[in-house]
Amino acid sequence: MDANTVLLVFVAVGLDGLAGLAGGVLSERWLQRRLPALVAFAAGTLLSAVFLEVLPEAVEARGNAAFAWAFASFVALALVEWALGHHHHAAEAAAGHAHGHPHAHHHGHPGAPTLPAALLVSDALHNVGDGAAVAAAFLVSPHAGFATAFAVIVHELPQEVGDYALLRAAGWSRARSLLALGAVQLTAVVGAAGVLLGTQHLPSLQGTVLAIAGGSFLYIGAVDLLPELRRGPDSRQRVVGFLCGLLLIVGLHFAERFAGGHG
Ligand SMILES: [Zn+2]
Repeated sequence: MDANTVLLVFVAVGLDGLAGLAGGVLSERWLQRRLPALVAFAAGTLLSAVFLEVLPEAVEARGNAAFAWAFASFVALALVEWALGHHHHAAEAAAGHAHGHPHAHHHGHPGAPTLPAALLVSDALHNVGDGAAVAAAFLVSPHAGFATAFAVIVHELPQEVGDYALLRAAGWSRARSLLALGAVQLTAVVGAAGVLLGTQHLPSLQGTVLAIAGGSFLYIGAVDLLPELRRGPDSRQRVVGFLCGLLLIVGLHFAERFAGGHG
């Protein structure tokens, strides 16, 4: 692994950290209008990153075993979400926030607000996975890395906006909420460093991590985010958002081919 790869990984993880501040930094008015499109954009980038970059690279590295790892991570996420009743990548939170009702987001437990601590811990675990995925993708190729980094950062935006709304609704101050979300977002560094160091000893690690990321991106994109496209008024901005996300990754994919790169 060269110094350039390591630099790219940490720049991407740093940008992902900034995404944690989205809820407090972007204007409320802009969010109210644009959040549904942002959720759709995230679904488009995640799903195209899965099928064009992440899974093909995972299969190249690990053969058919990649599908078993991807499937296992998809099923594990479904079970975790079912057990916790917690939509981690809560498009609902985004939708609730967009309509000015952050309190509406209670994960199917009416009247029982999510504890900030539980929210932050599950966020931290998720971000370790995101950081690992970004590192593994940059290790296999720059375009897989960029596609994965885009997919990670873009899907964190609506997530972090929802989390910010929840912390504020739980009575946290603006500064405390942003500090906590930024810090939790930076746990991605742990995942990234783990993969960068781990592959030195276990070269198959990067393919396995990519396969797991493929399964979880597929779950988040198809199960958590995509159904939002069919919900509520003003479906056009969501369809446009979805197609823009898709075209971003498709464009990246073909730009790399024309540049005569890996592929
Ligand atoms: Zn994420």
